[in-house]
Amino acid sequence: MNKSSSNTMALTPNTSNKRETVCIFGTGDFGRALGHKMIQSGYAVVYGSRSTQISNLIPKDAEVLGHAEAAQKAAVIIIAIQRQHYNFLTPLAEALHGKVLVDISNNLKLNQHPESNAEYLAQLLPGSKVVKAFNTVSAWALQSGTLDASRQVFVCGDDVEAKQMVMNIVRALGLTPLDKGSLLAAQEIENYPLQLFPMWKFPIFLSLGLAAFFFFYCVALDIIYTYIYENNNFSFFIAITIPNRVCPVMALILLALVYLPGIFAAIIQLHRGTKYRRFPDWLDKWMLCRKQLGLIALAFASLHAVFTLVSPLRAFVRWRISKGIISQALNNKTEPLNNTNAWLSDSYLALGILGYFLFVLLGITSLPSVSNNVNWREFRFVQSKLGYLALILCTAHTLVYGGKWFLSPSAYKWYLPNIYILSLIVPCAVLVVKFVLILPCIDKPLTQIRQGWERNPKYSE
Ligand code: NAP
Repeated sequence: MNKSSSNTMALTPNTSNKRETVCIFGTGDFGRALGHKMIQSGYAVVYGSRSTQISNLIPKDAEVLGHAEAAQKAAVIIIAIQRQHYNFLTPLAEALHGKVLVDISNNLKLNQHPESNAEYLAQLLPGSKVVKAFNTVSAWALQSGTLDASRQVFVCGDDVEAKQMVMNIVRALGLTPLDKGSLLAAQEIENYPLQLFPMWKFPIFLSLGLAAFFFFYCVALDIIYTYIYENNNFSFFIAITIPNRVCPVMALILLALVYLPGIFAAIIQLHRGTKYRRFPDWLDKWMLCRKQLGLIALAFASLHAVFTLVSPLRAFVRWRISKGIISQALNNKTEPLNNTNAWLSDSYLALGILGYFLFVLLGITSLPSVSNNVNWREFRFVQSKLGYLALILCTAHTLVYGGKWFLSPSAYKWYLPNIYILSLIVPCAVLVVKFVLILPCIDKPLTQIRQGWERNPKYSE
């Protein structure tokens, strides 16, 4: 009995949840979607529109009035209209005086106008308080409720009180406001939705370029060379053999490229004797995309693992194994187990498995949901110490795979080294220089520099 009465209490509408009235100019896609969400969150919504006719598309409980009339009903007015129509607001300057105008507009191109849309609106209506917000949220996400990917709402504006009012609305809609400062930040905020994976561009282009180079390098050495000089048609290598050569090579090189900028940074700091001078732009950009490089490397390593696992299913591999068995049977001779080869093959596999395990661990800790739950020291331990260990294991995996074969002349078709030899250049260079950098005589001054010590202080007392 008690239980049912407490349930009834919980279901009784809480009238104190009713919020103030918000006005939205424009009954287009965004205006309607935002109005719908606002009504759900307890706001009363009044639309300012060129047509006061109610249509089925407009949220049921909303009112539709002329612009001037609608503006009188609320302190906050959301301008859900394209920038090119903003001049229709100028005659409404008096009705909009002292009101908080929320500019939600976007552009079609980066830096399309000399000033941001929000600054333009503020110039048109100097008596109003303009706040930029909501432009990174899509009408579709608002309507369908799939806001998980865009829960953050960037807010900026010159009037602190007006900004607070808008941030309260953002919170009431179940979103997270992020204060970006004054209206000067509006240009940057307006550029966000136009950016296409900005941090991924360089790593993706680099990976595609390198992968294409190694792919054609292998086609030349493993297919064309064998066809010309050995009269064997191995064109089917294109499907699995060559991708399974390119993937580990890419994974190893990209993993080394994650640690190479750190090495350059250390050398530059040692040379300058200070950490207070900016790194060159290319190094800054490279450092910022290390996570993306690492994740692409992990993708290549995973593909390599899958390609390797399906190897026994391949007709070519089964043919080679049965050919070996038949030739032993025909010669009536069993080849003895080569202990060195058995050791090399097992060590090669073990190093690969351990390296891949650490690789996956690095990938997992780079996810925001995981990295937000570890402190800075733990994050550095995984990304730096375990990362270098992964690089050592993966480099050793490749070295053991190559073994003495790297020294054999048959590994140099057309005098060109095998791609596995090429893949070792960057990782070996990174590991050797890192080893030098951790020598106490170098590590000590480097640590001091990173703690703020300067060889030639600019501002000495
Ligand atoms: P829309 O569907 O084209 O609607 C714009 C509304 O503006 C129209 O429905 C109309 O409303 C009003 N309007 C059109 N011409 C006008 C004029 N000459 N004078 C006065 N009002 C006029 O555009 P939307 O997709 O809703 O986008 C509105 C704004 O939100 C844009 O600035 C856009 O960049 C921004 N935005 C949109 C999205 C999105 O997902 N759609 C996401 C973020 C930001 P009435 O007929 O009621 O007057």
